Amino acid sequence: NSGTDIQIDQRNGRRLVLLPLPLQGHVNPMIQLANILHTKGFSITIIHTTFNSPDPSKYPHFTFHFIQEELTETEASTADIIALVSLLNIKCVAPFRDCLSKLLSDVSEDPIACLISDAIFHFTTAVSKGLKLPRIVLRTGGASSFRIFTALPFLKEKGYLPTQESQLENQVVELPPLKVKDLPVVNSRDPESVYDLLVSMTDGTKASSGVIWNTFEELEQSALAALRHDFSIPVFPIGPFHNRFPSSSSSLLTQDQSSISWLDKRAPKSVVYVSFGSVAALNVTQFLEVAWGLANSKQPFLWVVRPGLVRGAEWLEPLPNGFLEDLNGRAHIVKWAPQSEVLAHPAVGAFWTHNGWNSTLESICEGVPMICMPCFTDQMANARYVSDVWRVGMQLENGLEREKIESTINRLLVDEEGEAIRKRILSLKEKAKLCLSQGGSSCQSLDSLVSQILSLEP
Ligand code: UDP
Repeated sequence: NSGTDIQIDQRNGRRLVLLPLPLQGHVNPMIQLANILHTKGFSITIIHTTFNSPDPSKYPHFTFHFIQEELTETEASTADIIALVSLLNIKCVAPFRDCLSKLLSDVSEDPIACLISDAIFHFTTAVSKGLKLPRIVLRTGGASSFRIFTALPFLKEKGYLPTQESQLENQVVELPPLKVKDLPVVNSRDPESVYDLLVSMTDGTKASSGVIWNTFEELEQSALAALRHDFSIPVFPIGPFHNRFPSSSSSLLTQDQSSISWLDKRAPKSVVYVSFGSVAALNVTQFLEVAWGLANSKQPFLWVVRPGLVRGAEWLEPLPNGFLEDLNGRAHIVKWAPQSEVLAHPAVGAFWTHNGWNSTLESICEGVPMICMPCFTDQMANARYVSDVWRVGMQLENGLEREKIESTINRLLVDEEGEAIRKRILSLKEKAKLCLSQGGSSCQSLDSLVSQILSLEP
């Protein structure tokens, strides 16, 4: 779906230059944003690294320019995502500056109104300033987790950081209902690099001409209000993006459509969909606990085992011989699924997720209750909001054990406890729809964003 049924406003003679962070969870929302702004009459130019690039032939309505970030093979294949992102913030500076200044001097095209950069690409603050081009940022995560990022220096002063093993279960009293173990530096092999990256990102966001969020007012009202109060820049919650433009076209991996034909044969709300996103990894012991927890739950499950999910394994080799066969068709494993379609399928009753922001939002928009197993950075805060604030899911806390997995699945899918959670997420689903209808909060915010862009003086 390239949005053929979507109404496109008259062209407004302005061009936008977009710079996505080249990771799946960031490329999807940036491409969706590009489509949304294209419908508002802007012409769209995307600058992308050659690393992890989407297929430009899928977007004939956009212009693509590729920069050579020159990552070595080892750098590009690292599992340390913070190291990768920090390196990209250094290696992209020169090629991005060169590319952008060429675009700015090209008078044959519509004039460039501004740069829209992923917030994590904080290096663009200095580049756009040097080129005197206004810069708006897209934060692809939630507003509530971002608010926690902005509080990191304060939390350091208060002694919460560096975190102590003995205090992980303690509350962060200044940021309820957060616990110390939900802070973004936890579960990291290099907490200081995470801290530095997040502080640079929030500083770069504060220095921008505005911040766009893939969220909606009714979901994150208090975090958005606090950010509006603390930042002197406009804040535009215009999501959920994927309700306007599906993310399937920007998938960097092939989505296995057998997921849908398999779901077609299952009873309504009976299936647990399991996916931990594009980056998270498990060790073999954890992987086997997940497998046995799912098997012992007696519920049908669709499981995304991405090559690379299990450290040290190619794909499914750690599973015992005959594991799948013994389940007699109750399980289906794929390497990558068409997630939005899966979550929208009537057979899906629960989503066991790592709580990446896109997955969390996609689950809310389809009214699918969650089992939360956050792995790193913003995922712990997202999971805390899912379980304790919106109360639309249950956390699998304190280690992965098959018995706990089995009981959590059944509590959510079968027990009365799950019924209340299902009702709450269905009500959030309605709100997620309403905000995009005419006069809804995200529509109004999008109109303000368009006015803001058109008012920018380069
Ligand atoms: N996704 C997908 N197929 C899968 C698993 C994930 O298409 O099998 C998509 C999912 O719909 C989401 C993105 O990949 O849009 C993952 O983003 P998220 O923020 O949830 O997690 P990340 O991958 O960044 O950890």
